[in-house]
Amino acid sequence: MLFSHPEFDHHEHLSFFCDAETGLKAIVAIHNTSRGPALGGCRMFPYASDEEALRDVLRLSRGMTYKSALANLDLGGGKSVIIGDPRKHKTQALLEAMGRHLESLGGHYIAAEDSGTSVPDLKVMGRHTRHVAGVAYRTGFDGTPSNGDPSPVTAYGTFVGLRAAVKHRLGSDDLTGLKVAIQGIGNVGFRLAQHLKDAGAELWVNDIHADNMQRAVDQLGAHAASAEDILTLPVDVIAPCAMGAVLNDRSIPAIRAGIVAGAANNLLDRPEHDAALKQRGILYAPDFAINAGGIIDVFYERTGASPEKVRAHVDTIGDTLTEIFNRSDRTGLPTGEIANELAEERFTKHAAGAGLAPQRLSRTG
Ligand code: NAD
Repeated sequence: MLFSHPEFDHHEHLSFFCDAETGLKAIVAIHNTSRGPALGGCRMFPYASDEEALRDVLRLSRGMTYKSALANLDLGGGKSVIIGDPRKHKTQALLEAMGRHLESLGGHYIAAEDSGTSVPDLKVMGRHTRHVAGVAYRTGFDGTPSNGDPSPVTAYGTFVGLRAAVKHRLGSDDLTGLKVAIQGIGNVGFRLAQHLKDAGAELWVNDIHADNMQRAVDQLGAHAASAEDILTLPVDVIAPCAMGAVLNDRSIPAIRAGIVAGAANNLLDRPEHDAALKQRGILYAPDFAINAGGIIDVFYERTGASPEKVRAHVDTIGDTLTEIFNRSDRTGLPTGEIANELAEERFTKHAAGAGLAPQRLSRTG
């Protein structure tokens, strides 16, 4: 049942944690550590079944191997899930128990915040382990203080990637007058909107929380748009920065923008939507390439680096996307597929450079 699970892909390690006293039920999946320790978010979610949690952790941990390899980071791929409702079941004792379990993995897996967990939650886990990330106070590369939250760097990386997509499609990276619609004006979306505004773009925004939307209207002069319209407005770029699976059978035929470039994870509802976007002539910046700023930031929090070095690494997101777009044009293959291919190449090259036995990542297992 485990080794033949559809999402099992030569994962190196799986741990099941159960703590009767605090109610903790968690799974850690380490997909691959040949580039370095497996770093990935700790998600807390009221999964309907253990099977749903297992499927999520297997799939997401593998995705982290690809994301870090594509971003040229010395990190492997891992993820953890805590089964429970963060608003009801998250207690200090449960988080501390999770911290003790993380410590028992000896640093092969490092947890970061994810949906359902926050920087303060990771700090509680950190009472019992060093193997948590995205928790250190430092100066961000824009000179502002950071509490460890990677969102500002994710937003900057998304801006860099969006600009590369515009250059590829429209032939210039001058964003003056560019029309951009942003879905989700939260931690990443608002800061992306600030970068775009500074670059002269005209913005449309939507958020399920009216106050988030109003802040963008008041502070950035953005136009408020409805939830139904935000992804189908006649703009140059749509930037989904809220949730996954928004590129689907319903939305893709209705999209009028020529570019999709947003930070949300797992934007494609199903793998074949990658090709559906290409068929419609829409340039898609693969989510795990464009939103890598956060993992880059967290990596350097652990290794230590000047803000300039972090910024220079994040700037390579633009180069990676340009390579993906060019290769997609040359081969006719959709950009998401090219991004997976490039991640596999970078993974294999790294293994060879490090003198390791030949290693390959394979999507077919
Ligand atoms: P966030 O929770 O701060 O912001 C998300 C925003 O989207 C919120 O304002 C929320 O109200 C809004 N929203 C939720 N559902 C919506 C809907 N149906 N329509 C419109 N708005 C909706 O989260 P974030 O940190 O800004 O992350 C945004 C996305 O980017 C997520 O998918 C996240 O997984 C991804 N991401 C974030 C980071 C990071 O560093 N924060 C890194 C990589 C990927």
